[in-house]
Amino acid sequence: MAISFEIPERLLQEREMLKSVAEGIMRPESRYLDEHEHERPHSFIKAMWYVLRDQQAKALQRLTNGGDKPKREGPGTTYVRMVLLAEQLSWGDVGQYLCMPSPLLAGSAIEAVGTTEQKLRFLKRFAEGEPKWGAMAMTEPGAGSDTSAIQTTATFDPETNEWILNGEKIFCTNGKLALEESDGIVVVWATVDRSAGRAGMKPFVVEAGTKGVKIGKVEIKHGIRASDTAAIVLDNARIPADNLLGSAEVVQREGTAGFKGAMATFDASRPMVAASAIGVGRAALEFLKEKLAENGIEIPYGAPYHSLSAVQRDVLEMEAQLKAAWLLTLRAASMLDHGAHNSLEASMAKVKAGKVVTQVTQKAVELLGTMGYSREWLVEKWMRDGKINDIYEGTGQINLLIVARRILGYTSRELQ
Ligand SMILES: Cc1cc2nc3c(=O)[nH]c(=O)nc-3n(C[C@H](O)[C@H](O)[C@H](O)COP(=O)(O)OP(=O)(O)OC[C@H]3O[C@@H](n4cnc5c(N)ncnc54)[C@H](O)[C@@H]3O)c2cc1C
Repeated sequence: MAISFEIPERLLQEREMLKSVAEGIMRPESRYLDEHEHERPHSFIKAMWYVLRDQQAKALQRLTNGGDKPKREGPGTTYVRMVLLAEQLSWGDVGQYLCMPSPLLAGSAIEAVGTTEQKLRFLKRFAEGEPKWGAMAMTEPGAGSDTSAIQTTATFDPETNEWILNGEKIFCTNGKLALEESDGIVVVWATVDRSAGRAGMKPFVVEAGTKGVKIGKVEIKHGIRASDTAAIVLDNARIPADNLLGSAEVVQREGTAGFKGAMATFDASRPMVAASAIGVGRAALEFLKEKLAENGIEIPYGAPYHSLSAVQRDVLEMEAQLKAAWLLTLRAASMLDHGAHNSLEASMAKVKAGKVVTQVTQKAVELLGTMGYSREWLVEKWMRDGKINDIYEGTGQINLLIVARRILGYTSRELQ
């Protein structure tokens, strides 16, 4: 498939608007929120809510009027737009970006496997009233990379036509914001049949205010400290039957039913995580270049390689790596906009960007010497913040495995 890497003018203009939010609202709060974990980025939340609420209302209006497909000719730009947003706001501050009041990962799951009726019902709240958050809870104390080990159960009660959820989820981004601090939603993955492994896994929409749902430990973290990461305890939590996304049927074939829904969610979210990583990496690289320039070190683009100093070579290498990750990310997002299957490309972008951000931010700290390690500058924070992109939404190793399986044609049972 031929993908154009030219970004439409209106998206570039939108990026300029986001840049002013990043510079004017996020950056000034960065250090404070890093040092005061669990305080909320109120100014950013307020600024973004008005923009996002309007956009959500328009998207729902389109859905009500004419089904899921946009009316115009040719592919849309939904996902390219989302990666541009993730990149620019993460350049501002990735912890705050994650607090963006939006359906976030719950939205990816609902878009991937929900019916039109469910999309309208669950996403409506993000188009009105006060700020709200969405989240997705897959990880458990005994189930991280190996999602088939999930122990949270969903049992159907035919008398009340409800699902009863029991279990514990951990490390849920925006879990507290969604369930305790707003009228939000969390998509909880639970098994309807433990013996069926991944085929038995189903996504359930848990709404704020559901009895039997409690927020547990809120993590104190190494990076993205402005972001909320919480445990969720489900103790006989009853939710309506039609809060199950997709079908309740357990199909005993790999890549079908429940797990397909999880994979479709990741196909949409991994390019965004990759973009977020690149935003952090770009922040560090730009800052490094600024400081080098203040010390009389410019990057002579086009000069013969052998004539460059070690520092200049390092900077060019950092730029090239970030660009490579960005092109992979744009490709993965564009494929979704074209309606193409992008699992391989989404994992490629995620694994590349996750590695590059850790290398680039670490190198920036190194080249800036003692001040790079000082809390006076944000570069040490970007080094801490960047690492998460190599962990969540499938670690670097897991995404490499997915890439290898897809290229070599192995199933997850054959190559693990
Ligand atoms: C800040 C933060 C926010 C998060 N937000 C969310 C969220 O919103 N929702 C959610 O559901 N989860 C979330 N997570 C959880 C995250 O997705 C998991 O941490 C991740 O999937 C890895 O699981 P684990 O930590 O249990 O590591 P493990 O699976 O125990 O892995 C440990 C190490 O072993 C490696 N490894 C495991 N299996 C293999 C293999 N087969 N081959 C090679 N290497 C392997 C891993 O790559 C990793 O390096 C979050 C985590 C963090 C830190």
